[in-house]
Amino acid sequence: MKTELLDASGLARAAELLRSGGLVAIPTETVYGLGANGLDESAVARIFEVKGRPQDNPLILHVAAAEDLTKWCRDIPAAAWTLTERFWPGPLTLVLKKRPAVPLRVTAGLDTVAMRCPDHPLTREVLRRAALPVAAPSANLSGKPSTTTAQHCIHDLWGKVEAILDGGPCRVGVESTILDLSVFPPRVLRPGGVTLEQLRALLPETELDPGLVKPGETPKAPGMKYRHYSPQAEVRLLRGEKERIDDYVNSLPDEGTAVLCFAGEEGRFPGKRTLAYGREDAPETLAAGLFDSLRALDTPEVKLICAMCPSEEGVGRAVVNRLKKAAGGKITCL
Ligand code: AMP
Ligand code: MG
Repeated sequence: MKTELLDASGLARAAELLRSGGLVAIPTETVYGLGANGLDESAVARIFEVKGRPQDNPLILHVAAAEDLTKWCRDIPAAAWTLTERFWPGPLTLVLKKRPAVPLRVTAGLDTVAMRCPDHPLTREVLRRAALPVAAPSANLSGKPSTTTAQHCIHDLWGKVEAILDGGPCRVGVESTILDLSVFPPRVLRPGGVTLEQLRALLPETELDPGLVKPGETPKAPGMKYRHYSPQAEVRLLRGEKERIDDYVNSLPDEGTAVLCFAGEEGRFPGKRTLAYGREDAPETLAAGLFDSLRALDTPEVKLICAMCPSEEGVGRAVVNRLKKAAGGKITCL
């Protein structure tokens, strides 16, 4: 298939392709999404095919404005409007009871639907022009690190989708926070760009899903049970005192070992291939650099990636969540 590479001058084309059942990779502030008309079952089915995504992993429905919620959702609690007022457009996905118009293929058979209004000028304009809810998971092959640039999308999807819309690098860099509002108290199913602290400032009763708190439990967001965000190499997520981490990493062979470290700390690992993904004291920079760095280290020579674990505050919680998944669900405490 011929893939069109579009830019800001191609928004009408992107909307037309979506309206006619095509797949378009779209930029958002979190990661790139692989979009299709969310009301077109066969277009939605192609998202699963192209990504190699398990059928039981539901998609997020992207809309142009909060008002659209009433078209696709029912029994919307007041909290939803409080949150959309404060955080939309932005990196917060709300899980609500769905209306029958939303195809079960989008929700993987669930009676709830995940809704989001992304904050990217190009994609907002595409959503407005297409006048459709756009179903979109992250625009990567299933299991691989998410895409945060058009180049990443080209790498994973060229020749498999109708178009890729280049909107530059994603500002946030990790996926949206998923908050389940179909239950009470509201429950965070996936940490992301909007932090637990920000949510609790408005809704103090907000809980973290047990799967995000207790080791061994799986979070309720259906897709979170799968191995995710993983490069070819084994990822080992290291937490502990710096001297212990240095001893551990420096005892590993230089060949085949790479270190995903904090900016300015490359010198701690002489002889090793190092890549800084952001500043330890600025978790938003770690989020913004995470997937690009994991992809940059995904070369055949690299067999093991030792990743430095940041503190789980603010958006750092989302960074740790993604790294932990890339590391097969565990943190190596030294
Ligand atoms: P992705 O866009 O690839 O990050 O995947 C979307 C995420 O949203 C997956 O982890 C899904 O499990 C989650 N999700 C979508 N719909 C629902 C829903 N109705 N209930 C809970 N989680 C959902
Ligand atoms: Mg994904």
